[in-house]
Amino acid sequence: MAVAAPGQLNLDESPSWGSRSVDCFEKLEQIGEGTYGQVYMARETETQEIVALKKIRMDNEREGFPITAIREIKILKKLHHQNVIQLKEIVTSPGPERDEQGKPIHGNKYKGSIYMVFEYMDHDLTGLADRPGMRFTVPQIKCYMKQLLTGLHYCHINQVLHRDIKGSNLLIDNEGNLKLADFGLARSFSNDHNGNLTNRVITLWYRPPELLLGSTKYGPAVDMWSVGCIFAELLNGKPILPGKNEPEQLSKIFDVCGTPDESNWPGVTKMPWYNNFKPPRQLKRRVKEYFKHFDRLALDLLEKMLTLDPAQHKMHLMQSISGLIPYHVILKACQSMNLHTSSRPRKNANKCVKPMKLRRGKRHNILNHMAVCLQFNKQDSPILKSDQASR
Ligand code: AMP
Repeated sequence: MAVAAPGQLNLDESPSWGSRSVDCFEKLEQIGEGTYGQVYMARETETQEIVALKKIRMDNEREGFPITAIREIKILKKLHHQNVIQLKEIVTSPGPERDEQGKPIHGNKYKGSIYMVFEYMDHDLTGLADRPGMRFTVPQIKCYMKQLLTGLHYCHINQVLHRDIKGSNLLIDNEGNLKLADFGLARSFSNDHNGNLTNRVITLWYRPPELLLGSTKYGPAVDMWSVGCIFAELLNGKPILPGKNEPEQLSKIFDVCGTPDESNWPGVTKMPWYNNFKPPRQLKRRVKEYFKHFDRLALDLLEKMLTLDPAQHKMHLMQSISGLIPYHVILKACQSMNLHTSSRPRKNANKCVKPMKLRRGKRHNILNHMAVCLQFNKQDSPILKSDQASR
């Protein structure tokens, strides 16, 4: 950041985090309710910029600032990418919040409120998909998938697992830019972690079998399972694995992907909850049958994304382009195709904090393969002009 000359204001300098009051913003309407608090559309009174204000719920907290919010802020502060939501600043409302009669709001008597200020996005993927009569075209799906994969790849090489990839956390603006949002369940990881991660993460319909079987040692492959579910959902027009509870979720997975055993997933019988959820009978894999209406390439890709074993090393995958071309070359090629990426590239976009080499042969390496199979074309448009109504 440039340093101002003595006696001059440094106009480059953004306000230091937490120093501004929420009164600098005019709340326009509530646009969402997350696990951790309400989300408002708001206008910055000086610049007129429209932003999203996410209130951090403090009323249930006995021990001060919620750890989940600390994690989310810490992670978002280090991520700067055109496909990851930008956390602009933190603002506060001093003292107790009061109701219309001026009485302190119950449960928040002595605490002020804290808000995260985000760039504003017009839609989320689930909201768009749920519009009556809405069916995404293949070019639209490719375009969203490309952006989802680019953003996720950036998170993974910066050693961040998102752990809640689903349509409502993929925000989209009216230009078709897609950004990963809601890092409330995200966490940093390293390849040598000792296996004490929680397995109660990722919304059930998008949760991979290794978490449902109790694994506490996992990596980027968990997010890739969710991406596979979203890819199939977009092509299918509805969620593919809508389980009501954990046992039902696993049985839906087994129904489509077949039952796991030592031959297709070495080590599965030793997983913590394998015996609790052991399938009563063997089922064969039926991905091709279930999704026979999909395009051949899409089906081929889905087969590889929905592998039961996250560490499965597939010969045909190794032989595919993914085994030959490194990540960054493919992603660079995609970027050079001028694919509706953000029109205003951010200063720090693509800057990696500490790039990490991803190991080959795992479910997450399909990212490469996918980028190539999807063959992103210049004409792939994000959303149709007719879809561009604001929320
Ligand atoms: P979250 O707690 O981050 O999942 O937010 C809950 C909901 O608020 C999301 O599903 C969105 O509909 C909305 N939302 C969150 N962040 C934004 C944003 N930056 N712009 C517009 N809407 C948002």
